[in-house]
Amino acid sequence: MFEGITNALTDVLGSFRGQLTESNIRDGMGKVRNALLEADVAYDVAKAFCDRVVEEAVGEKVLKSLRPEQQIVGIVFQELVNLMGPVDHSIEVRRGETTVLMMCGLQGSGKTTTCGKLARMLKEQGAKPMLVAADLQRPAAIEQLKVIGEQIGVPVYSEDPAKSNPVQVCVNGRKAAGQQGCNLLILDTAGRLHVDDALMKELQEIDNKLMPHQCLLVCDAMTGQDAVKSAAAFNEALELDGVIFTKLDGDTRGGAVLSVKEVTGVPIKFVGMGEQLDKLEPFHADRMAQRILGQGDVATLLETAQKVLDQDEMARQQEKMLAGKFTLDDFLKSMEQITKMGPMKSLMKMIPGMGQLSQAIDEAQGMDPDKDVKRLRAMIQSMTLDERQNPDKIDRSRKSRIASGSGTEPQQVTELLKQFKTMSGMMQKMAGLSMMDRFKAVRG
Ligand code: GDP
Repeated sequence: MFEGITNALTDVLGSFRGQLTESNIRDGMGKVRNALLEADVAYDVAKAFCDRVVEEAVGEKVLKSLRPEQQIVGIVFQELVNLMGPVDHSIEVRRGETTVLMMCGLQGSGKTTTCGKLARMLKEQGAKPMLVAADLQRPAAIEQLKVIGEQIGVPVYSEDPAKSNPVQVCVNGRKAAGQQGCNLLILDTAGRLHVDDALMKELQEIDNKLMPHQCLLVCDAMTGQDAVKSAAAFNEALELDGVIFTKLDGDTRGGAVLSVKEVTGVPIKFVGMGEQLDKLEPFHADRMAQRILGQGDVATLLETAQKVLDQDEMARQQEKMLAGKFTLDDFLKSMEQITKMGPMKSLMKMIPGMGQLSQAIDEAQGMDPDKDVKRLRAMIQSMTLDERQNPDKIDRSRKSRIASGSGTEPQQVTELLKQFKTMSGMMQKMAGLSMMDRFKAVRG
């Protein structure tokens, strides 16, 4: 995501070295503007953004400062943050009261999935959610919501679509929530292929009757300007409290994410980063700005690590590393843990300085961490216990045996042993450093 914009920004900002003049800055920001347009940022937004940066950057204070190029990076960062923020993602759920969230969006935007993701996230935070199947438009939506509800252990209220209507389903859903002690109601309303009057009328009726605490629009970030246009239309009819962009894990060019707040005034509250129900993240304008500038996102990386990694297991492995007792079995466990955090490519982008490299790296190596870990497992499981603990014993003939046992080549076994050596060496060096120092060490 954002590859085009990040490349243009890093190129241009990197070229602002040495003699920096007003015309350099104007030329550079002209290139940035083109990259923004190519990434499907709305024209007015791209122009205003670049004009603001130029206006601030050509001031005496910046040009005459000691490191003007650094100041300009700071200005671009701040303008990106202003463009996308501020955001308040809090959703207040009180005891003894039913908080109602109305979710809307076009068909295929990911609305039903996002209802499930949000219910899961808020349940983890202590809420007692209930999902309401008020999408009577798409034939499979009710069934889909029931399946999702089952997966996350959240009740789903539904009625026979032939005998009911969306407003009635929502009203009865709220009653059912009260009876079942649920304090959060998430309404999965109907979508259409395009914004139309019938859809808006139906949503307004629900809005008037239920008076939801928040009305959130789910938008597919891959649809670029269309997403922004539909957000404007929904906002006009419903006064949205926030937008949730889905499919940011895909190769969206990112224009909608940069444009929607400025065009509609509605902030992005959450972003969907995958099809699975745990792939929803609160949206942080500053973190997103850092990613766009290719500066990584250590905060999200650490949060993800804390959430998905088995902390006890990681601590055990770290102790072993420090004591020099890290074995190939531990190596396999670490690799398995790391793949739990998500695709290697998106992880690497969160490490400062790696954003630019990640594309080159995975293009060059065609990295597929899941496949790599499977191969790793096969090789390590073909070793004897003694070999796993003392990899130095693995000579040429043992390598051939391991390779034929795991359906790999001896060369790949050599590669694995080399990786293991590098990793245990690196880990031993890092084990003594604080978390921030580690990232600095990775950055080089
Ligand atoms: P609805 O018609 O708006 O209710 O859309 P669905 O919830 O059925 O989602 C449409 C498709 O988008 C499904 O295949 C979802 O798995 C997929 N989807 C939803 N959110 C995301 C996301 O954040 N990333 C990706 N890659 N796919 C998503």
